[in-house]
Amino acid sequence: MKESINPYNGEKLFKFNELSNSELENKIKVAHECYKDWKDVSFKDKTTLMRNAGNELRNNKRKYGEIITKEMGKPISQAIAEVEKCAWVCDYYAENAEDQLQDEIVETDAETSYVKYQPLGVVLAVMPWNYPFWQVFRFAAPNLMAGNVGILKHASNVMKSAEMIQEVFENAGFPKGCFQNLILSSDKIKSVIENDLVKAVTLTGSKPAGASVASIAGENIKKSVLELGGSNALIVFDDANLDETVETCAKARFQNTGQSCIAGKRLLVHKNIAKEFTKRYAEKVKSFKTGDPMSEDTYIGVMAREDLAEDLEKQVSGSVEMGAKVVLGGNRKGTYFEPTILSEVTVDMPIFKEETFGPAIGITTFETDEKAVELSNNSVFGLGVSMFTSSKDRVKNLVPKFVEGAVFVNELVKSDPRLPFGGVKISGYGRELSSHGIKEFLNKKTVYVK
Ligand code: NAP
Repeated sequence: MKESINPYNGEKLFKFNELSNSELENKIKVAHECYKDWKDVSFKDKTTLMRNAGNELRNNKRKYGEIITKEMGKPISQAIAEVEKCAWVCDYYAENAEDQLQDEIVETDAETSYVKYQPLGVVLAVMPWNYPFWQVFRFAAPNLMAGNVGILKHASNVMKSAEMIQEVFENAGFPKGCFQNLILSSDKIKSVIENDLVKAVTLTGSKPAGASVASIAGENIKKSVLELGGSNALIVFDDANLDETVETCAKARFQNTGQSCIAGKRLLVHKNIAKEFTKRYAEKVKSFKTGDPMSEDTYIGVMAREDLAEDLEKQVSGSVEMGAKVVLGGNRKGTYFEPTILSEVTVDMPIFKEETFGPAIGITTFETDEKAVELSNNSVFGLGVSMFTSSKDRVKNLVPKFVEGAVFVNELVKSDPRLPFGGVKISGYGRELSSHGIKEFLNKKTVYVK
């Protein structure tokens, strides 16, 4: 049995019965049967359906947004923005998939040779609760357009969102079986990956979940993509525009109540401006409205589950015990965690070393560009980094030195359907979004005609 509980007020919202083994097998068969026809559907028809999905989301953004807010505590304005972003990714692939998947002619000594992109079949997506709609749509939109079909194992606390996502595709007119939600526990994932009809798996989530799924996929010689955790640095050089940088760095850490893989989690600030920056940053963060996630003006809500808030509390108090200073916040009440800033943070403290998945950030100072890069790269994660500077030369010199999936300059790291998204090191492998993401689960068939 799965249950959704509102993390803001403890209200029990929905209950879901898990699928039996035979129901699960049947759903996978339905997906495969659907794939047999879906793979040959024209781009024109798929485009119409994907545009419908975008419109369905836009037309019902409040309904879907409210489910997100109730299930995982995201402030309603951000939940609605998430639904709108899902509509954008549907529009983007409706517009671009056909061009992205054209045969790619390659000159060789053959009369004609080219790469043909063809779908694999049923792809399993294992997804987290933090962006319950977006994480799923950024997988589903490209894959459906490419001719694959999707089955979803969503996080246990957002099963209503999962049900709604299937509803979006059904309301848009996609054939039955193109996209199905599976109500499952993670211990059933092995049998799904092992099923002959399932051809590949993508997981967005933590390292242990990723390692488990990837090793099962590896044993079965099936392709996997992993989008795992991150501990992005926000690097503020002493020539940065402070007003804009304070705003951007505050949003980078505190939007979605800090529960984002690409949030800026380590603030590295040049020593010359550290005092002024810290003062302004604290003022900005203090100004964020906290409270009921259902209120339009709430910016920081509650964390999705109490155990997650407890984990963050340990990381913050552990860092303070090691010498970090509390600039702001630091306390927890149930699922509510005060927006927290620590200073004098060193590399051995939990708030620097570990991924913190909530509204807390530590400030570490540096004096040289080399030290800033060294601190930024001093992480087991490699999802992205933001640097704030007005020097174009510095950007040119430093960009190649970051061991990261993305470098953003004077901007927070964000996903955009037009750009590839993914990490290196234990942040995972493979890419989502853009022309790169749509090709992850395809057979890149070499054709050679003499
Ligand atoms: P999680 O515990 O790993 O859960 C993610 C999904 O994996 C859920 O559906 C979960 O199901 C399932 N799962 C858990 N253990 C599993 C296992 N052993 N085998 C198969 N499936 C398993 O992660 P989370 O706490 O929900 O999300 C937070 C993490 O996700 C953070 O590390 C964050 O950085 C990362 N994340 C990464 C990205 C990215 O794009 N790189 C985006 C968002 C989040 P249950 O809920 O049933 O346990």
